[in-house]
Amino acid sequence: MTRSVAIIGAGLAGLAAARNLAARGIAVRLFDKGRAPGGRLATRRADHAGRRLQFDHGAQYLRAAGADFAAALAEAGAAPWPDADRRVGVPGMSALPRALLGGLDLRASRHVGTVVGEPGAWRLRHWDAKEAKPGAPLPATPPEEDGPFDAVLFTIPAPQAAELLPGFAAALGGVRYAPCWTVMAGFDAALPLPDTLRPEAHAIGWAARDSSKPGRDGAAECWVIQAAPAWTRAHLERRADDIVAPLLAEFACVAKAPLRPPAWAAAHRWRYSLLEAPLGAPFLWDPAQRIGLAGDWCLAGRAEAAWDSGSALAQAVA
Ligand SMILES: Cc1cc2nc3c(=O)[nH]c(=O)nc-3n(C[C@H](O)[C@H](O)[C@H](O)COP(=O)(O)OP(=O)(O)OC[C@H]3O[C@@H](n4cnc5c(N)ncnc54)[C@H](O)[C@@H]3O)c2cc1C
Repeated sequence: MTRSVAIIGAGLAGLAAARNLAARGIAVRLFDKGRAPGGRLATRRADHAGRRLQFDHGAQYLRAAGADFAAALAEAGAAPWPDADRRVGVPGMSALPRALLGGLDLRASRHVGTVVGEPGAWRLRHWDAKEAKPGAPLPATPPEEDGPFDAVLFTIPAPQAAELLPGFAAALGGVRYAPCWTVMAGFDAALPLPDTLRPEAHAIGWAARDSSKPGRDGAAECWVIQAAPAWTRAHLERRADDIVAPLLAEFACVAKAPLRPPAWAAAHRWRYSLLEAPLGAPFLWDPAQRIGLAGDWCLAGRAEAAWDSGSALAQAVA
């Protein structure tokens, strides 16, 4: 019998699992290294010249093929953009995970570095996320410890789960993500471009006038420009500051016109963006160890796949 579950990762997969388990009366605690829930459903804000600029720099829009995800999006107040079939959070994408979290217990800004104990009595050791860097040795400062938990669910990208769970590394080895450099740029005047662009066979994979989404400041000219996987891989280890100019130069090629320099710009690297090779199963669950894994990487590189994976894992656990 499962009475308490720790979930590492409060993206859509973790939120779906947490809601499902909590609805069955199971005590759930979420942990996330981010300051807020959502993971790759994220919104960046910046103040410039007295104006609030805002960018959804991760997922751009969500589609719901199934009734379950459609109901979650409706509950969270998602609105159509750029057409009736696609949905975005209002006033930003990050509003969706905030609404879906509701009153669930989340330890934010905590990086889980190790899980110790045994099935039925797992304990999580976690550090201030500002101190812990992915792929680096764990901080020398003493961790906080939470537990015991009957079960632990890892709803984090597969390569990060493999670091925490060496026993699952072989099962996760075939999962591959594309990385994505993303530039956020605010311009002083409107660009002569449609609200969305998906150039074929180009360094730019997608660009959108983020300020055209519902509930945004329509007078701000905020763009999100995402590099295609090949361009990102060629520039993967460059500093974020060194990415803005070359990616905007590529964007100017798409626009077929020189662009005035942006009033404000920044770049963000997503090492795990869209999936190139999924697991091919909805989740992993070891009933003897009482350890489970879920995420978009199980099924497909879409937000709905993350939701479905988290829900399916929760059903197996319960
Ligand atoms: C640039 C970009 C564009 C995209 N565009 C779209 C789109 O238009 N439509 C669409 O449907 N999908 C899109 N996606 C994909 C979509 O965002 C993902 O499929 C979905 O959000 C994945 O959810 P998840 O819960 O599986 O993982 P995540 O959202 O990655 O959540 C994992 C969470 O785990 C946390 N975490 C990781 N390690 C630890 C640790 N050790 N301790 C504590 N916390 C940890 C992270 O902080 C994160 O919050 C896009 C993604 C990116 C990056």
